[in-house]
Amino acid sequence: MTSPFIVECLDCGHRSPYVITENHCINCGSDWRETRYDLESLKADLPALWKDRPFDLWRYRELLPVIAHVPDISLGEGGTPLLRAANLGMMLGLPKLYIKDERQGPTASFKDRQAAVTIAALKEAGVTEAVIASTGNVAIAYSAYAARAGIKLWAFITSLVPQVKMREVALYGTQVVKVTGNYDQAKQIAAEFAKTRALYVDRGVRSITTVDAMKTLAFEMAEQLTAILGPPESGAVPWRTPDWYVQAVSGGLGPVGVLKGFEEMKALGLVDRSPKIANLQADGCAPMVSAWKANKEKADPVINPRTHIATLATGDPGRTYTVLRQRMLDNAGGLFEEVSDEEAFRAMHIVAKMEGMSVEPASAVAFAGLIKLVRAGAINPNEVVVVNLTGHTVPVEQSVLGENWARSVDYPEKKGKTGELAPEEGLLAALNRVSADRYRRVAIIDDNPDVRQLIRRILQAQGNYTLFEAQDGRAGVELINREKPDLIILDLMMPEMDGFSVLEVLRHNPDTAEIPVIVATAKELSNLEKERLGGQIQALMQKGDFMSDELLAEVKKLIE
Ligand SMILES: *Cc1c(COP(=O)(O)O)cnc(C)c1O
Ligand SMILES: [Zn+2]
Repeated sequence: MTSPFIVECLDCGHRSPYVITENHCINCGSDWRETRYDLESLKADLPALWKDRPFDLWRYRELLPVIAHVPDISLGEGGTPLLRAANLGMMLGLPKLYIKDERQGPTASFKDRQAAVTIAALKEAGVTEAVIASTGNVAIAYSAYAARAGIKLWAFITSLVPQVKMREVALYGTQVVKVTGNYDQAKQIAAEFAKTRALYVDRGVRSITTVDAMKTLAFEMAEQLTAILGPPESGAVPWRTPDWYVQAVSGGLGPVGVLKGFEEMKALGLVDRSPKIANLQADGCAPMVSAWKANKEKADPVINPRTHIATLATGDPGRTYTVLRQRMLDNAGGLFEEVSDEEAFRAMHIVAKMEGMSVEPASAVAFAGLIKLVRAGAINPNEVVVVNLTGHTVPVEQSVLGENWARSVDYPEKKGKTGELAPEEGLLAALNRVSADRYRRVAIIDDNPDVRQLIRRILQAQGNYTLFEAQDGRAGVELINREKPDLIILDLMMPEMDGFSVLEVLRHNPDTAEIPVIVATAKELSNLEKERLGGQIQALMQKGDFMSDELLAEVKKLIE
């Protein structure tokens, strides 16, 4: 089944057949055009067709601007998992938090969707040479697919892009051109170069193929959420829409594509609404955030981006911001917010140690934004939230972890003639030196096993403690009397003997009266309750609102 589609000009509405090498409207000259599919006639057949297909990007091929599927260039793009983030969700008080893990795409970022569809369309059209400008990941993704399609690629990359990424691009056989300048300048030079040589140049959001490639994210999210949470309660449509789609943005292609995807799903009768979009930028390069907050339709370019996160350094989003903003306002709305590089690096560490996912700094911007938005009350605890974990490509962990992130053990050499040492003995001794003599002892008293696991994880990921756990007040008091911990982390609401009573017992026993206590509670405390705690505890943390590093800092302050 081939898919009838045409290209529509967003300015004059002129419709024409799609020719990949034509990048302007033949009627008005505008370069803002999008595909239109005959959704009405596809409506009946699509769900049945999809049912038996593998879960990858080409599952939705009738809605992509490629006629032939071109499987010989496929690298297995799309179909990335949607993972529940239980630990991070509990930490933030957001039980329905999901991560779309785009690291698991073939080039380890969500740019492989864009590259797969574009290169397939170029190959189909017989194009053999193309040009791109990139902050790194676009170049890697296009290079991989161009290699498979036998297309020569020129990549214009700003010199700010980490060496490891540039090296990977070159490895694929792409001609790398380093541009000393910012990303906007690299784009200009690439466009000039392509023009003089009459070569195809990727134009980001203004390339027809890119927007449609990104919309597959929307289809996948809706299908996956439905599999996890079941169809929407209303019963009117089969697929579920998340309340929020959260993404770090640079040029803004991702959210534009995702919104187009939800619009098409609405037209197909698959969903009944679009998600709110949370767009996050690094504060050293946040032209869209500034414009949004000033309620402006146009973004003023940031001339000198000041962020270490090169992937997000689009200083001039141009008309994409205007288009994205309008599309959000026409749908469910959303917001733009900024975070600092430091907040992003902190979030990078939190996501890794709480969820076991190593993300690149650009993706961490989305997580830092999520934390900020939950704390500000912009995202509500009962909402279904999907964060796009856009990519993981380079080992940048060193700059996040700081000094002393690893311990070293020397394999012991044989001693001289006097003290001949058996190798195992020496190894054991060396390993013993890795662990401190006596770790600080912390008692965790909480009736919820998930909370105990979360607190345990927070403490173990970053420090060495001997941990004791009790699941109610009575067992807690017993444990404390027996083990005499250096610190107690105490829940307030527990059946039978609650935290208040535990405190009372501890304070009346001279052996335990001086042990510092951190109260971690999910309860909104009344003034009376706060008074009851007064003077008895060292710190109060609201569960679902405390951050892992805050709890850790508090613990360290009290016992180290
Ligand atoms: C490209 C990219 C972004 C920004 O995406 P846009 O939707 O184009 O703004 C975010 N994170 C990573 C890892 C990227 O490669
Ligand atoms: Zn036009």
